[in-house]
Amino acid sequence: MIIVTMISFTAQSITYGAETNQNEEFQKRMSLYKKVETVTNIPWYVLASIDQYERNVRHSRNDIPKAKGLIEIYIKPEIWTGPLNPNKNDMNPLSIGFFGGMGIDGDGDERADPTNDEDVLYAFAHFLQAYGADLENIKIGLWDYYQRDKAVGLIIGHMKLYQKYGHLDLDKHAFPVPLNHNFSYNNTWGDARGWGGRRIHEGTDIFANYGVPVRATCYGVIEMKGWNRFGGWRVGIRDIDNTYHYFAHLNGFADGLQTGQVVEPGQLIGSVGSSGYGPPGTAGKFPPHLHYGLYKDNGRTEWSFDPYPHLKAWERADRRNRK
Ligand SMILES: [Zn+2]
Repeated sequence: MIIVTMISFTAQSITYGAETNQNEEFQKRMSLYKKVETVTNIPWYVLASIDQYERNVRHSRNDIPKAKGLIEIYIKPEIWTGPLNPNKNDMNPLSIGFFGGMGIDGDGDERADPTNDEDVLYAFAHFLQAYGADLENIKIGLWDYYQRDKAVGLIIGHMKLYQKYGHLDLDKHAFPVPLNHNFSYNNTWGDARGWGGRRIHEGTDIFANYGVPVRATCYGVIEMKGWNRFGGWRVGIRDIDNTYHYFAHLNGFADGLQTGQVVEPGQLIGSVGSSGYGPPGTAGKFPPHLHYGLYKDNGRTEWSFDPYPHLKAWERADRRNRK
């Protein structure tokens, strides 16, 4: 009994310490974005979204060096110094400018350092400024830079979230089913059987009655809504970490729910059903349940990972908050 108490106390203090550091980092990053916005007119949430997109890509790949500072935008040496610049480590703003590199000196130390937070942010803002500071032109600038629709789409999704909530802390989650309803789920990750519509079972099945509310698990943007032969009526939400939250076999959707819409943890998105395994409207081929999946994007490909431990943690957190 004593041991159990001590363990939970330690776990709580660790969580508290991590949250404090995280809040400090959010504040520091926000003041950097706002500083650059003041000078360049590129809105802070645009810069925050690019930085967040790159942070997610960088954390899920090992071919990009780890960031030294708080800003994680990675500008390749040949882009930073200029394609024809013979010195790929050039930090002289004049010669970089001569070779048409993106690098500039943002913090006034007369060096254009691709690992310096302010230099990187100013360089990107400066690049976008050439297109214009309004959203349509910013989108064109982003497409020219990334040349990948998915990247631009993800960044625009982040923008909607940051703009709506006005802060960087969007990591809160909720369990998809309200705790006052009956439900059950087990760890079925990778099972051959399942009603998720894939050869191995990529997700967790939460069994509950027809009509039990299904809620958003995160702050995010509705990326997909509609019918799929196996998944039935389903919704996909993209969160600020580029994680895709997938809800399948729904009975129906929340009123007015549409793609592109911003949702937050706990917000109603639909209800539990047994739709799928046939043309639109097919239902009842298996017991009603919510199929919940999680997918990650690394800037090149997307893969699924086990939602079960996350669901357990969110369920525990919701239970704590209810008390
Ligand atoms: Zn399933």
